[in-house]
Amino acid sequence: MNHSVHSTHPRAESIRIREMLLRYFRQGVVAEAGLIAHGRGEAFDYLLGERTTGNAMRAIEAAAATLLSAKKPVISVNGNAAALTAESIVQLARVVGARIEVNLYYRSAAREDSIQLLLKSVGAEQVLGVREAASARIPEIGSDRRRVDPQGIEIADVVLVPLEDGDRTEALVKLGKLVIAVDLNPLSRTAQTATITIVDNIVRALPVLVKTAEHLKTRTREELETITSHFDNQSNLNENIMAIHERLTHLADKQSSGTGPVHTSPSEAQPRTNLNELWRMKNVHKIIMLTAYDYQLAKILDQEDVDLILVGDSLGMVFQGHNNTKEVTMQQMLYHTRAVAAGVTTTPIIADMPLNSDRTEQEAIENARMLLNAGANGVKIEGNKTATIRALLDQKIPVMGHIGLLPQTAERYKVRGTTSVEAEEIMKDALALDAVGVFAIVLESIPEKLSKRITESVRVPTIGIGAGKYCDGQVIVTHDILGLPQTHTPKYVKKYADCGAVLKAAISKFKLEVANGSYPDDEHTYH
Ligand code: ATP
Repeated sequence: MNHSVHSTHPRAESIRIREMLLRYFRQGVVAEAGLIAHGRGEAFDYLLGERTTGNAMRAIEAAAATLLSAKKPVISVNGNAAALTAESIVQLARVVGARIEVNLYYRSAAREDSIQLLLKSVGAEQVLGVREAASARIPEIGSDRRRVDPQGIEIADVVLVPLEDGDRTEALVKLGKLVIAVDLNPLSRTAQTATITIVDNIVRALPVLVKTAEHLKTRTREELETITSHFDNQSNLNENIMAIHERLTHLADKQSSGTGPVHTSPSEAQPRTNLNELWRMKNVHKIIMLTAYDYQLAKILDQEDVDLILVGDSLGMVFQGHNNTKEVTMQQMLYHTRAVAAGVTTTPIIADMPLNSDRTEQEAIENARMLLNAGANGVKIEGNKTATIRALLDQKIPVMGHIGLLPQTAERYKVRGTTSVEAEEIMKDALALDAVGVFAIVLESIPEKLSKRITESVRVPTIGIGAGKYCDGQVIVTHDILGLPQTHTPKYVKKYADCGAVLKAAISKFKLEVANGSYPDDEHTYH
């Protein structure tokens, strides 16, 4: 029963995971009930849109901060967790200095051994809770899960329990431990009882947790405490429940408005990359973002499989012929976003929030919503405006940051971050944007050395324009690389074609043929 799933199958990833679980089931790592539990998780994953949401990202950040501040953190591992994320568990233990302990509902020496073996095969040095080592007992639990290691869970102050059951979560919390759970069901007793609940698939959540912990590792205790104190588990869970509600309402609306099965019409199609998962491309492949302001160019970019299309307010210069982007209005952005969306099937579209569209948080939310309704999948905001960005993220609006040279407010277009004071300011802005939860950061016109440092320090991808080769991706005005006439051509622009010359040649030939009577000829005339 080992089917190979074609990567283009719409459910390829979930089928791959199921088959992996089955393999581990046959090896004695996963219990029978583990297969059922996974199915229940998958159902919730479907409802959540099978992505790491902004809510999950916030819980992950709080979890990472809590683990890093813990004195004796322990990662409790069961069969499913080991089968699905053994490597991430071992990496996380290393980053946060946690111990790993096997804890099973269906305990048998053989399963304990298999799980221990699996963890060790991916680098675990020590695995607690195996066989006689699980000699202590947690009160109030009926199952074999009460057996814990006196060097591990029994003395832990923070326990990460991916895929836990409600009884044990409750018991651990009662013992005064901080419990971090990963559970796709925000309604489960585990989710509702844990101190921090990451409502996400463990397969996606654990690698992000590792990266987040790596990133937060240099923070002071005070900074970590600020992160945890800003996190409220109950409201995060409520947000998750609301997110499911909104998604279902949205899908039902689409069905009843006659657009039929949800992914069919091009403008309604789901983008092929979930913006909240753009971090996955970091260190994997360079992200390409190009600008478009109209249907035709958008269609070409979509067919060329660029990663992101930016409806940039650069249209003020490129399309309207101004010297800057300051005069672009919301109405113009909406008009161009609609035109671009008409040409795009699955490439995510990012629309710039133009100058003065975010003077208050409410105004920013309303304007960003309009851009999303016009066809954008996310918005880009210039500058370190953390409060506004947080307000947008709270409304589930994906936001891309933009620092370095900020054309909307810059007096002159010049390189930023060349002095150490300015470089530190830009670095701080990058960290702040990363922490607040933008899905990527544009770095414009800064020295390569600085963009390299930023790229290495933030979790999310950096996308450079005039920021050198170390960024995680590049963005550029498409008209610039096509060699079309511009009001301003910065140093970093490289022409990949001379479309200006191609257009001129075509126009001059047309003029000539009309003048000499060879156009329109018979072939191009109605008879
Ligand atoms: P509770 O006792 O907490 O009310 P339960 O009886 O459903 O819930 P279990 O049977 O232990 O508890 O269920 C496991 C939980 O793990 C389910 O809530 C399920 O949604 C969740 N789950 C299963 N697979 C995954 C996964 N891959 N990632 C995250 N959560 C998952």
